[in-house]
Amino acid sequence: MRSENIPVVVVGGGSAAFEAAVAAKQAGAPKVVMLEKAPEPEFGGNARFSHTGFRWVFSGGDEVRQFLPDIDDEFFSKLNLPAYSSEMFQADLQRVTQGRISKELSETLVAQSNSAMHWMRDLGIKWEIDSNVVIDGRYYFEPGLVIHPTGGVGGGLGQLMQWRDIASKMGIELRYESRLTALLGNDQQITGVRVSDPKEEYEIQTHSVILCAGGFQASAEMRARYLGANADLMKVRGSKHDTGEVLMMTIALGAKTAGHWQGAHATPIDSTYPDVEIGSKANRYGYPYSITVNTLGQRFFDEGEARHSYTYAKTGWAVLGQPGALAYQIYDQTTIPLLGNRYEFSTPIEANSIDELAGKIGIEPTVLQHTVAEFNNAVRKDVAFDATKLDGKCTEGITPKKSNWASPIDKPPYWAFSITGGVTFTFGGLQINTQAQVLNTSNNPIRGLFASGDIVGLFFHNYPSCTGQTRNVVFSRLAGRNAAAQGL
Ligand SMILES: Cc1cc2nc3c(=O)[nH]c(=O)nc-3n(C[C@H](O)[C@H](O)[C@H](O)COP(=O)(O)OP(=O)(O)OC[C@H]3O[C@@H](n4cnc5c(N)ncnc54)[C@H](O)[C@@H]3O)c2cc1C
Repeated sequence: MRSENIPVVVVGGGSAAFEAAVAAKQAGAPKVVMLEKAPEPEFGGNARFSHTGFRWVFSGGDEVRQFLPDIDDEFFSKLNLPAYSSEMFQADLQRVTQGRISKELSETLVAQSNSAMHWMRDLGIKWEIDSNVVIDGRYYFEPGLVIHPTGGVGGGLGQLMQWRDIASKMGIELRYESRLTALLGNDQQITGVRVSDPKEEYEIQTHSVILCAGGFQASAEMRARYLGANADLMKVRGSKHDTGEVLMMTIALGAKTAGHWQGAHATPIDSTYPDVEIGSKANRYGYPYSITVNTLGQRFFDEGEARHSYTYAKTGWAVLGQPGALAYQIYDQTTIPLLGNRYEFSTPIEANSIDELAGKIGIEPTVLQHTVAEFNNAVRKDVAFDATKLDGKCTEGITPKKSNWASPIDKPPYWAFSITGGVTFTFGGLQINTQAQVLNTSNNPIRGLFASGDIVGLFFHNYPSCTGQTRNVVFSRLAGRNAAAQGL
């Protein structure tokens, strides 16, 4: 079998992989090769299908403006950009993971989120403002989520194109259709990798391997094995290439596991979209402003528990647990304007009465009438509705309660959207330390083996939106720098 020597090998072709490869090259690695399983037209992993917003610590509008050099003064003055502090980011991580996220890794993530964002900006990554809600002419954002990379084509593909350009200018070699088939070495030290491409299988001798091969969400077999009953039937929002074999071979080598193995990021999405590589157009995240009912016409979760960025990753699971894994979001003319352009990629089912709507979505009309009337009667009339904050306008005396933004559904025409749950990425993965080194089951680093991105086990139960991309860049930067030092 043919063999070659390369100082730093990065496995994967997604955002975590590019960030690690660029950091390694910047830190002096003489040669860096990226192995991407996908063919060129499909490269880029999950980010290809994503919007790639980043959650990061920043001090307010002045700092954000450094990332938007061409923004118009008048437009910028309409943006509501309060600071997002380290304390807020850490509190968000702890709350949604129910205190289970690693203390050390979450501290590293929070502490380095700001410098990692400035590193991307310094490298030339271009940015634009994130999704928002416009109220009385002012633009409101989710806390900590105000910008994402652009690059002409927008969103995740824009970010990938920018990274690929930067990597290419630095002389990083990206090999498409190059699948990692084996790790060489043992649980003390990595010595190389075996690669399969359409022409041959060959080996690379190396002292530094960075694993950025994503989660296992695109393997129906592994979803069934780890995520529970019928998880093999879930729709997959991102890349079909994230099938978990690199994760499994690393565990077989002796790596320690971490994160929530029965957990995954799963969101409410339009049920009419295809089964895989769905992307962000199918996102249906307006539910905090209205009610969601299952096919039996019943509400089944607190739609207003918090802003969608703190609940969406578990709301997909709530929908998947309903009969037929289906549900309907229902809006009236008070709340439809709050959907903004986020629902522009699907057609609402419209009706002038709740009876008519029930008929159109196949729910027993009397039951839906009852659910809506019960909800409307339970809404506190003495609290004002305010979409810019947790308004405390809740329901009283019904289960499940709606904790915020409870507005009576009484202004036709009504809209309904049919939704299901789609898996984004899995939470179970490898245990790394704060230097992005992969640990063995004795808690010692496997020399020369690093990991970043969805292949790392970090989250439990739920996830504060847009932490994945920030986690990628923070740990990929560390992995790249440390791998370069190892490979020199
Ligand atoms: C629709 C959608 C929207 C999202 N929106 C956001 C957002 O706004 N903000 C945010 O922070 N996160 C978001 N995410 C999550 C985020 O995109 C992922 O967490 C992140 O992209 C993971 O990066 P990664 O590089 O670890 O994995 P991936 O991007 O999935 O890359 C894995 C790579 O490994 C390759 N690979 C797999 N197996 C092998 C093998 N055997 N050999 C070689 N290569 C292999 C794959 O082909 C792929 O290139 C979103 C995800 C989706 C799907």
